[in-house]
Amino acid sequence: MKYKRILLKLSGESLMGSQQYGIDNARVLQYAEEIKAVKEKGVEVAVVIGGGNIFRGLSAEKSGMDRAQADYMGMLATVINSMALQNALETIGVYTRLQSAIKMEQICEPYVRRRAIRHLEKGRVVIFGAGTGNPYFTTDSAAALRAIEIKADVVLKGTRVDGIYTADPEKDPSATKFDTLSFQEVYAKDLSVMDMTAFTLCDENNLPIIVFDMDKGGNLMKLIDGENIGTLVK
Ligand code: UDP
Repeated sequence: MKYKRILLKLSGESLMGSQQYGIDNARVLQYAEEIKAVKEKGVEVAVVIGGGNIFRGLSAEKSGMDRAQADYMGMLATVINSMALQNALETIGVYTRLQSAIKMEQICEPYVRRRAIRHLEKGRVVIFGAGTGNPYFTTDSAAALRAIEIKADVVLKGTRVDGIYTADPEKDPSATKFDTLSFQEVYAKDLSVMDMTAFTLCDENNLPIIVFDMDKGGNLMKLIDGENIGTLVK
């Protein structure tokens, strides 16, 4: 196994599947199966999920809402997604714990770093909900922060595209994919990997990032096996 402990970041939008909004349970189950497979190989798995399929603070601000209020709503959306993934994992027999950065005693544990590490050591999948617990941040920042805190070996950012390209491959057909990039190259070429807050956090703490296509079955396992798919930033 190339990695012993991973932090998997899934965007909220990816949970929509082919829908325009909300949660496609078939897609969530598919992700749960992928996670189960790598967990059964002995990899410790922590997950951070976005909330963009339900609510995004920045978009709400554009239509007139107070940004901080909207961001808290976005954080609650990530908890809804986290609960959906938790349900899917437990349906297929994977032990999980959901820890939230905002206290919600009836549905999840509060975020406690040492406890999260203990859960991982015991083989439970730990899902971190409510982002960082602070407005003006994103779930990419939460993924970077939690990964550093729990000393994950890598952040795996699952997206719809299979890596980082010279331009947006959905808009520019001549765009080509990078296999590996340094943090400095990403700054110099002005590429978008994560938002800058999240990205610099990874850079300053020597945390490698792999951007890959999570929707393609078996890709997560390939990464764990050390196959060179997606784009590695280190
Ligand atoms: N959010 C926040 N602080 C955080 C993480 C998330 O305020 O630490 C809010 C923010 O409004 C964001 C929303 O939650 O728009 C959903 O998260 P994000 O946009 O990162 O989700 P994704 O794009 O990955 O689906």
